[in-house]
Amino acid sequence: MTSIGPSTPTAKELADGRAHRDAALAFRPYWWEAAPRPQISDDELPSETDVAIVGSGFTGLSAALTLLRAGRGATVLERNEPGYGASTRNGGQIGSGNQKFRVKRLIELRGREKAEALLREGVRMLDYIEHLIATEAIDCHFNRCGRFRGAIRPEHYEAMARDMEDLRRLAGVESFMVPKAEQHKEIGTDIFEGGSVLPNDASLHPGLYHAGLSKRIEEAGGKILGRSGVSAIRPMNKGFAVTTARGEIRARNVIIATNGYTDGLVPELTRRIVPIGSGLIATGEIPEAVFSALMPTGRMYGNTNRVFYYFRAAPGDQRRVIWGGRQGRLASPTSLRAYRHLARDMLAVFPALATVPITHAWDGLIGYTYDEIPHLGRTGSGLHYAVGYCGTGVSRATYFGHKIALQVIGDKSGKTAFDDLTFPSFPVRPVAKRAVPVVETWYRVRDALNK
Ligand SMILES: Cc1cc2nc3c(=O)[nH]c(=O)nc-3n(C[C@H](O)[C@H](O)[C@H](O)COP(=O)(O)OP(=O)(O)OC[C@H]3O[C@@H](n4cnc5c(N)ncnc54)[C@H](O)[C@@H]3O)c2cc1C
Repeated sequence: MTSIGPSTPTAKELADGRAHRDAALAFRPYWWEAAPRPQISDDELPSETDVAIVGSGFTGLSAALTLLRAGRGATVLERNEPGYGASTRNGGQIGSGNQKFRVKRLIELRGREKAEALLREGVRMLDYIEHLIATEAIDCHFNRCGRFRGAIRPEHYEAMARDMEDLRRLAGVESFMVPKAEQHKEIGTDIFEGGSVLPNDASLHPGLYHAGLSKRIEEAGGKILGRSGVSAIRPMNKGFAVTTARGEIRARNVIIATNGYTDGLVPELTRRIVPIGSGLIATGEIPEAVFSALMPTGRMYGNTNRVFYYFRAAPGDQRRVIWGGRQGRLASPTSLRAYRHLARDMLAVFPALATVPITHAWDGLIGYTYDEIPHLGRTGSGLHYAVGYCGTGVSRATYFGHKIALQVIGDKSGKTAFDDLTFPSFPVRPVAKRAVPVVETWYRVRDALNK
């Protein structure tokens, strides 16, 4: 008798909790198919380096590349395999401006002048990543495809229209509104009450972008060492002694680039960053006739809820949907239960995907800050850091990595509008961490009640 193995679950089976427990689904980022995990180098840890960088995501790699291009040395130290963190797990959506706040709110919090400076720098971050990818010739499907943001309620549409106008006036960000009656030109769903389009927003393949940065660093003589978790950093005469899983390395400077994976290494940062889980699923290939009606303009997509979901097509001619949102609570990241809600949200927007298989599901950690603003600077003991992108970090981590490296070498162009911001700590960080699911449930209730 032929035995039939577990099959790949359909979106509907996953959403309904009917998928077989042993269903054939890969619990790893879809991006790792085109950018397989790198071999971990057996190279010995050098006894010294110019700048030691802790963490091998976009922040760490961008910092390393800037240092190397400036003729300085860099060694990237990574606890797991290179690129283990959010940088190869994200949705690859790249925005302009500061999407965490409405412009009005940012002005209330920071004043008009500062708000304008922060927003304009947000636009420069998008330009910078485009410039870097072009000058370093990194083949990673970078595309200024634009972003559509669907209004969940009519009031959201009105508020978004006002905000887009403020963003244009203050930071020169181009956008246009799409009323519900014309929405099908942008997206094949009736669930939204119209939406906004930021035509200059962009997308990329995070795995290929990370692999491209890594290649350029190695070509320039930099080292990226996996399985080199840093457990202690001790100030010493003219620099630091860094204790890693491969031994000790001395460095003139150290950059901490651990974002959502920040542990107890630097207590000053541990108190200021809360890791928040986020999940994604990828569908199998979708028949052309169905696929072409879903996202006819091929943009990035999201909604206006506090508990946000976002989605896109996979780059190239794959005809797959990549769908992201919050992490499933109280479920292991390698259990189907952790991704049910993502399939449910996806089918609410695109019911035609019910019979499409789900081939990949994965999670990652976002680094959240108390004021929802990323921070870079120097700790009391002289360590440089760049962290806290609050879930929008593809361009921001790249840019902050670049800027913090310039600050390390004392280059005046390392100055940013973020330099003089106080970096608040969470009042009681262990409680803040445990409170995340409660806060999220509260946001869901408020979304439902439209409060
Ligand atoms: C699921 C998900 C989806 C996202 N989607 C988007 C998106 O669509 N658009 C967008 O703009 N942003 C998105 N983001 C955010 C974005 O991916 C991150 O902001 C960005 O990748 C952060 O890069 P990083 O280099 O600072 O940190 P990471 O890439 O997280 O790297 C930090 C690294 O530090 C290592 N590390 C930690 N402690 C130590 C130690 N003691 N010693 C050595 N190494 C250590 C970790 O292992 C990790 O590899 C998403 C994030 C997640 C998790």
